[in-house]
Amino acid sequence: MPEIDHVFLEKILAGDRRSIAQAISAVENRDPAAVLLLRELFPKSGRACVIGLTGSPGAGKSTLVEKLAEKYRRRGKRVGILAVDPTSPYSGGAILGDRVRMQSLSQHPGVYIRSMATRGQMGGLAPATQDAVTILDAAGCEVILIETVGVGQDEVEVARLADVTVLLLVPGLGDDIQTFKAGVMEIADLYVINKVDRPGAERVEQEVTAMLSLATCSDGWQPPILKTVATTGQGLEELVKALDAFHDFSQKGGVSGRRRKDHWRSRLLDLLRQTLFERAVAGLLENGLLDRQVAELVSHHKDPHQVVDEIIAALIPSGEGSSVASPSPTAGLKIHHLGIAVESLGSAVPIFQKLIGKAPTAEETVVEQKVRVASFHLGDSCLELLEGTSEDSPISRFIAKRGPGIHHLALTVPDLAGALCMLGSDGVRLIDREPRVGADNQRIAFLHPSSIAGVLIELIEES
Ligand code: ZN
Repeated sequence: MPEIDHVFLEKILAGDRRSIAQAISAVENRDPAAVLLLRELFPKSGRACVIGLTGSPGAGKSTLVEKLAEKYRRRGKRVGILAVDPTSPYSGGAILGDRVRMQSLSQHPGVYIRSMATRGQMGGLAPATQDAVTILDAAGCEVILIETVGVGQDEVEVARLADVTVLLLVPGLGDDIQTFKAGVMEIADLYVINKVDRPGAERVEQEVTAMLSLATCSDGWQPPILKTVATTGQGLEELVKALDAFHDFSQKGGVSGRRRKDHWRSRLLDLLRQTLFERAVAGLLENGLLDRQVAELVSHHKDPHQVVDEIIAALIPSGEGSSVASPSPTAGLKIHHLGIAVESLGSAVPIFQKLIGKAPTAEETVVEQKVRVASFHLGDSCLELLEGTSEDSPISRFIAKRGPGIHHLALTVPDLAGALCMLGSDGVRLIDREPRVGADNQRIAFLHPSSIAGVLIELIEES
């Protein structure tokens, strides 16, 4: 078991370049010591603002990143830059090809630049980039710019690491927008048309506007379209302002919390997938099962599906160890809260305050559900008084139809997706087939009252 080098750790935390470089190399090389190191660094990270920039090659990303870094430097921020190139087999901190220009910036104290490449990594590029972000963040970088080279699936995954994603477009690449995969267009929070001094800029803008008018914005953010000429610095100030505006928006609306949850969920699944696979393969190689099964395929004695089933059966024995029935997805249900529709909080709150003997624990407005909520905590559960904020609020409609009173019962479940799957196949009418994000960033889903004795049920995943 490797031991943690405390001197090395302190140097990284102090922002020592050479130590940062060594740490990122250790992560890239999947050095076992890196796992220990990340364990120490992780609690000290989570403060940096991570900005992802992606777009076609030739869109001028490197120049834009360089100029952005300068802007943030002028604000006194420490900046980390990760230039990620999934197509390049080289890495190890080398500054690649057109990044030579960035070398001047890399001399600047307070700016750290690093190139990263796939090198055929099994887990893909995103996990290594994530770890590099953790290192830079813990080392005191307040702004981390992740620049990706192309616009493929790898880039989308890398872009998902960022708190804010910028898609760079450029005039004169023909039907460029159409060639972006839908996933790439959808991840962007900001669109930048760079090199707007070139002919065709207007057309690109029209195309993005048209595309955005079709897109459904789930969290209320309207992605702006900015125009820059990175080489002269034109439009850079507006871009920085737009990034600030997005930052403020995501802090306020709970978007950043939701994104972080989604982010860590997929990161955890990636890591699980990678680790389980590696351990399984190592086991198969060790006991020779893989070779034996390959021989069966070569001789056509077995088909590949059969072989996969057999290998999985060998890895996960269905004998005594796993004979314990898996718990029902709704086992351990608890009452989370009872929602009561009221005509006005102003008159209902004092009544409940008298009944309960204390003031509401919290009052808030949930904009997307058009409701104002006053909560009274009672033991492990809660009474929620709900007032509609407009006539088309579900609460106002409920009152119009049935009058004020008990509106819904909310229950917590350990496994929401599992519960929905089970209830759906049992014939319960689901309002939400998939979990969605509700207040406080919790994953929730509603069940239709028609199949549960007239009671609207809200399921909340235990966090
Ligand atoms: Zn509720």
